[in-house]
Amino acid sequence: MTASIGQVRDIGHVVVLLGAPGAGKGTQAQILSGRLGLAHVATGDLFRAAVRDGTPLGLVAKGYMDRGELVPDAVTIEMLLERLGAPDAAAGILLDGFPRNTAQAQVLDEALAGKGGRVDIAPYIQVPEQDLVGRLSGRWICRAQGHPYHEVANPPLTPGVCDVDGSELYQRTDDQPATVQARLRQQLGSLELVVGHYRDHGILRTVDGTQQIDQVSKDLLAAIADVTDSRG
Ligand code: AMP
Repeated sequence: MTASIGQVRDIGHVVVLLGAPGAGKGTQAQILSGRLGLAHVATGDLFRAAVRDGTPLGLVAKGYMDRGELVPDAVTIEMLLERLGAPDAAAGILLDGFPRNTAQAQVLDEALAGKGGRVDIAPYIQVPEQDLVGRLSGRWICRAQGHPYHEVANPPLTPGVCDVDGSELYQRTDDQPATVQARLRQQLGSLELVVGHYRDHGILRTVDGTQQIDQVSKDLLAAIADVTDSRG
């Protein structure tokens, strides 16, 4: 597959946030992208928007998503590269939910290299497998913008209502218990390989994801600052 990012001359810092489903990637990605001024690019959000809008991409993705399976690489990569070509990506990006396997990681490396860029750092939010099912089945997200909550760990101020935009909270089809098991089985194996890919490149930083949300953010910011400070 040829990897190319549209009409962007240069690309700023590229942070790949890694973690299993339920590790807190979405929550942390929102905090970090705001603090660091990076565009938050979440492939899951892009797919959910496509499903909501009923686009051809959404029609392809929906079945895979409902079953808790990965959408095929060709479709996912094309969507991602198109998003990286948008003007806001030039300031730098925080990737959430991509890459999910080594083929995607390689295509990303090639596409960035073609722009004189690279993945600067891959912080990994590590959470033991036995904690993940409970975390996922307690998760609710808002209709308007996908802000994530958790029944126990991070409840909204008013039950069923998003603190940020007031929209209704709902449970994703793929967060329901039977699907959660399938998603975890499929995704943990690939995640391990992606973690290995970035470890081999010397840019993996592991953070303990069982801590309080604030502490996880601090650890992630400290890990990322090492790189962003040194590259300017
Ligand atoms: P997420 O919100 O990241 O958990 O993603 C929700 C669903 O979107 C996943 O279960 C997949 O079906 C699909 N998806 C998101 N990112 C990717 C990706 N990088 N590769 C393939 N499928 C993806």
